[in-house]
Amino acid sequence: MAVQHEILSRLRPRIQKLGRPPGLAVVLVGHDPASEIYVRAKIKACAELGIFSEKLTPPETATTEELVALVEELNGRSDIDGILVQMPLPKHVDARRVLETVAADKDADGFHPMNVGYLVAGRPAPRSCTPAGIIELLKHYRIPMAGRHAVVLGRSDIVGKPMALMLLQENATVTICHSRTVNLPQMCRQADILVAAIGRAAFVTADFIQPGATVVDVGINRITDSAEAARLGRSEEFESKGKAVVGDVNPIDAARVAGAYTPVPGGVGPLTIAMLMSNTVKAARMRRGVRIPAAASAQR
Ligand code: NDP
Repeated sequence: MAVQHEILSRLRPRIQKLGRPPGLAVVLVGHDPASEIYVRAKIKACAELGIFSEKLTPPETATTEELVALVEELNGRSDIDGILVQMPLPKHVDARRVLETVAADKDADGFHPMNVGYLVAGRPAPRSCTPAGIIELLKHYRIPMAGRHAVVLGRSDIVGKPMALMLLQENATVTICHSRTVNLPQMCRQADILVAAIGRAAFVTADFIQPGATVVDVGINRITDSAEAARLGRSEEFESKGKAVVGDVNPIDAARVAGAYTPVPGGVGPLTIAMLMSNTVKAARMRRGVRIPAAASAQR
C-alpha cells in the first residue's frame, strides 16, 4: 500500500543513521488468537525494517504486579526504545495501571496519559498509531481537512478520541458521535470526512454517507454467517476461510456513495503498524539525542 511504503521508506535512512538498531519490546499476555496475529505482524514489520524486537509472553495468569514489574524492567533497559503492551489484557489485570507504568518516552502506542496530554496541547509526542496513520493517509491523498466537517464515529481512548483531536489539529471542524448520539445517520451524513471506529460489522450504510464524502473504515469485524457475507459481497472469502472480515462500513454502499473509501481489510490496518514503527524509531532518535524539528515531530 502506497502510504505504508512511504512511511516505512522515510524510516529506513533514519534507522541506518542510528548505528545501533532501535529496540521494540512487545508484551503479549496469554494466548488470545487475534492478539497473536497482530503481534506476529508487528514483529515481522520490525524484522523487515531492521528494528530489534523482543517478544515477552507472560502467562494468562500473570498478575498486575508481575506485569508492572516486567514493564519497569523494560523501562530500565537501554537496548529497548519502545514498549508495547498488546491489548486486551486478561480481565483480572488492571490494564490502566500496566499501561501507565510504560515510561512516557518509550510509549510506542501513544497511550500514556502524559502523551495524550501532549496531543491535547498540540505538542510533539508519540501519537496513537491508528489515528496517526489515518492523518498520514488523508495527507497522502491530499484530502483537505482544514475547514472541512469531520465526523468521528466512536469515542474510544485509542481511536475515536485521539482521531478527533488530530483532525482538530488539522483545522477540521470535528463532531464526535457515540452510542448515545441521537439521529446518527443524519449526523454522519453531514461529514466531508467520516471516520467509523465502532466495532459493528457494516453498521454504516448509504444513509450515513454524504455523496462524495471521504469514508475511513477502522473497524475489524468477523462475520460467521454465510448469508451476511453474501449480502456484503464476501461470499468468496467466506467459502475459502469459513469467515469474512469486514469493517464498520457497508463496503457496497461505500463504493456506491463515497468519493473515497478505505477498504477492510487492507486500508487502515497496515498503517497502524507503520505508525508503530515510526513511534519506535522516533523514540530511539530522541533517546539518543537526535534533534527532530517540531513540525516533523508532530507529523511523525
Ligand atoms: P471500542 O469498543 O473501544 O469503542 C467503540 C466505540 O464505538 C465506543 O465509543 C462506542 O460508544 C461506539 N459505539 C459502539 N456501538 C455503537 C453504535 N451502535 N452507535 C454509535 N456508536 C457506537 O472500540 P475501538 O475504538 O477500540 O475499535 C473500534 C473498531 O476499530 C473495532 O472494530 C476494532 O477492532 C477496530 N480497530 C482497528 C484498528 C486497525 O488497526 N485497523 C486499530 C484499533 C481498532 P460508547 O462510548 O457510547 O460506548
